[in-house]
Amino acid sequence: MTDGARPNDGLVLFGATGDLARKKLFPALLRLAEQGRLPDVVVGIGRSAWDVEQLRAHARKELDLSTPSAQAAWERLSAALRYVAGEYRDPATYTALCAALDGAERPLFYLAVPPSVFTTVIEGLAGAGLSARARVVLEKPFGRDLASARRLNGCVLDNFDESQVFRIDHFLGKEEVLDLLVLRFANVFLEPIWNRQYVDHVQITMAEDFGVEGRGGFYDEVGTLRDVVQNHLLELLTLLAMEPPAGADAAAFRDERYKVLRAMPALDPATVVRGQVEGYRDEAGVDPASTTETFVALRAEVDNWRWAGVPFFVRAGKNLPTTVTEVLVEFKRPPRLFFARGDGPAPHPNHLRFRVKPSEELSWSVQTKEPGEELYSRPVDLAYTYDPHRDGPRDEAYARLLGDALVGDQRLFARADSVEESWRIVAPVLESPPSVQPYRAGTWGPPEAAALLGEARAWHDPDRGD
Ligand code: NDP
Repeated sequence: MTDGARPNDGLVLFGATGDLARKKLFPALLRLAEQGRLPDVVVGIGRSAWDVEQLRAHARKELDLSTPSAQAAWERLSAALRYVAGEYRDPATYTALCAALDGAERPLFYLAVPPSVFTTVIEGLAGAGLSARARVVLEKPFGRDLASARRLNGCVLDNFDESQVFRIDHFLGKEEVLDLLVLRFANVFLEPIWNRQYVDHVQITMAEDFGVEGRGGFYDEVGTLRDVVQNHLLELLTLLAMEPPAGADAAAFRDERYKVLRAMPALDPATVVRGQVEGYRDEAGVDPASTTETFVALRAEVDNWRWAGVPFFVRAGKNLPTTVTEVLVEFKRPPRLFFARGDGPAPHPNHLRFRVKPSEELSWSVQTKEPGEELYSRPVDLAYTYDPHRDGPRDEAYARLLGDALVGDQRLFARADSVEESWRIVAPVLESPPSVQPYRAGTWGPPEAAALLGEARAWHDPDRGD
């Protein structure tokens, strides 16, 4: 076996004392321990002057140890844990890390630290000779614009080969999101209609019915475009629009995702609406004169043979009427024939709704005969809703992705070129942001977001299920 597919024999968690480690990474490690996939050595590292008992207490906080198998897994995880305290600029930290690795030769380094520290840690690892046979996972965000993403890629690729690098966006590890791939490529009936001949437009919505919830300081530096559009929603768009990969390997899969991004023109700020919810500037940590958006709606294009001319409308925001993430593909309107009522419009166009959150739902809106004497049509839904009792439990995204990284499977991680393409696409909006429009909490953003679709189209409102 080459190192390419060989499991890592140690795992190092930079930022082990933090929020992400507690909420997501230790639960994922417990799951891997349950599945027998945990490396023998797990080193937590941080600046806090903790000992290993403090790390164990922190790691346990969010774990569900209610079953005998989880308790046995915790015993294994707990025994594997070590803790190293130190500053990331200090070579002594990496000397202590080498000792804690206890002979592990191919560690996985997980950087769960603020992005401002990424390059320091990468250079520290390389300086200590720890990069040669290792893998490295970098948390999001990967840069805050095209220039910083390029700089970060430069530093990472000076010290690691691309095959060693795992840029994580946990969204792509969600089973609900991965099901979009199955829908696309395991159902033959979709292929003939999945193109500009039949699709009128696509809507992608990521709505939250809550606000910044005490994270005003973080959010004000970031805004909706950087927080969820450049990463999660562009990933969703690529899965929706990509061609079938030439193989099941990571290179083939990542090539197709890259090609979608490559075919997307940079956004035109004239077709981007930025909104800010009323009251946002009064939140703790938010600049009272802030122009950060808490809502964005935009029109994107994929200028290739399959999709040219089909608009992709994307919207995301906080304090909206409901919490939902979904894709809606609206097909072209059928001809009027005799199914429409009086002088009314032609029958409704069919649409396919693919909901990722709050739970997975798939529905087709199709036309059926309206009951009664007349030959009128009406839309009904053919629907599937995921039910954990019937269908079985879903695995957590972080467990899947950590497990993948530990065996070198890069399929669900972003490649350097794709990350840079996604920043290129949003760059004009970051450079010349349209002014923010106010909106009331509990509405679908500023009225300009509706106007973005023009006269003939309208957003489907997920809370009304239309
Ligand atoms: P935290 O703010 O909790 O920081 C993690 C740890 O990093 C802290 O415990 C701290 O440990 C260390 N740290 C903090 N500031 C610095 C600094 N200036 N220099 C060196 N070390 C520092 O972050 P999160 O755990 O929330 O997030 C970690 C990473 O994951 C970030 O890149 C974030 O963007 C990303 N992320 C987080 C998500 C979440 O839900 N929390 C979701 C998606 C991505 P110590 O003081 O002991 O060194």
